Amino acid sequence: MRMVDIIRKKRDREALRPEEIRFFVRGYSEGTIADYHASALLMAIFLNGMTDEEQLALTNEMLHSGDVLDWSDLPGVKVDKHSTGGVGDKTSLILAPVAAAAGVVIPMISGRGLGHTGGTLDKLESIPGFDVQLSAERFREALATTGAVLAGQTAALAPADKKLYSLRDVTATVESVPLIASSILSKKLAGGIDALVLDVKVGSGAFMKKQSDAFALARTLVQIGQRAGKKVTALITDMDQPLGTHVGNTLEVIESCEVLKGQSDGALAELSFELAAHMMVLGEKADDLDSAHKKIREMIDKGMALRKFQEIVAAQGGDPLALDDYSLMPTANKTEAIVSPCSGVVQRIHAEEVGVAAMLLGAGRTSVDDEIDHGAGLVLHRKVGDPVEHGAPLATLYYNDGKNLSESRSRLAAAFTIGDEPPPPVKLIQKIIS
Ligand code: URA
Repeated sequence: MRMVDIIRKKRDREALRPEEIRFFVRGYSEGTIADYHASALLMAIFLNGMTDEEQLALTNEMLHSGDVLDWSDLPGVKVDKHSTGGVGDKTSLILAPVAAAAGVVIPMISGRGLGHTGGTLDKLESIPGFDVQLSAERFREALATTGAVLAGQTAALAPADKKLYSLRDVTATVESVPLIASSILSKKLAGGIDALVLDVKVGSGAFMKKQSDAFALARTLVQIGQRAGKKVTALITDMDQPLGTHVGNTLEVIESCEVLKGQSDGALAELSFELAAHMMVLGEKADDLDSAHKKIREMIDKGMALRKFQEIVAAQGGDPLALDDYSLMPTANKTEAIVSPCSGVVQRIHAEEVGVAAMLLGAGRTSVDDEIDHGAGLVLHRKVGDPVEHGAPLATLYYNDGKNLSESRSRLAAAFTIGDEPPPPVKLIQKIIS
């Protein structure tokens, strides 16, 4: 087989055979296929797409390019959740303890933040001692004891995706539905799960800015995941404004704890509980969404969800006391309020700009090697649709190092649009595909 023939075939819109996809993925992983050949094929896929069969073959090849975790000796359906990422998206910290408290088994492989989006691992590392790089033995032990583990991806999980993703990043081939779908699914399925709930974000703070793109990605993820033999449900959810009110690592752990304590019931609680409910249905711990939601309410009211989070934290070496005494986590020593320049109604909060403002304060990274400041971030005091008086606080910045304060301040202020009329309502959960 020759790469030039495979490229020509895809260039001419013909479907590749599974053997050709295997030749490409294996050869590129092993270093026998050059970057120029792989780049040309990626661009042909970007331009001409892939059939379901090709996407399934690509997913399978990348999935089997490294270790595939196996939890079949542990009882129960293994369920994970994947979000395509956004600003203030801390649902994993809530839904994992909630669904685990209901008996779902959750071996969750999470990521770090980059650019304007945060990452679950960085958030969890705000909790003193919390270890996200567990050995295989500790992962298994924690999963068997608590029912949920939130840990980082090892280099051995879907290594072909890592290599291909780096190449896509520098060849303008990231934004391709078949390439994104096979990338996400190969990593998630290598985690040894039986079922997956996907949160596909759409809006200014999301990877997918347009609804049609988010729908296409969600549909493909569900189809390919199901053809790979997994139970998959996708929710398309709003990321035009940040999720919840807190952005930044310690701040997001605090907001999550407040939801788990039943002290906060806005959009963050709504979405986290909906995702947890789908996990409970796929994990066979609830017959339907209504009974899942009833169970969740009960677990929150009885403190069971918070206790489960404390157990998960302790099992991963973290200090569970930090979930009650927030001062045990890294904090910011300076704050500054952004006030409204006029009276009116908040019409828009540009999520990506809010994420960049938090990143500039140290809450996020511009490149993968950057250190982050866990105490830095911001809290929004008004969300879309809220009335505001002239001079009233819109948000508070939290920071230690004021290096980029003035840029962060001006970006955050500019992220708000205040007008006279209330904006048209936007649904948080826009569609469910299963
Ligand atoms: N996230 C992934 O894991 N892969 C992609 O290709 C895009 C987003």
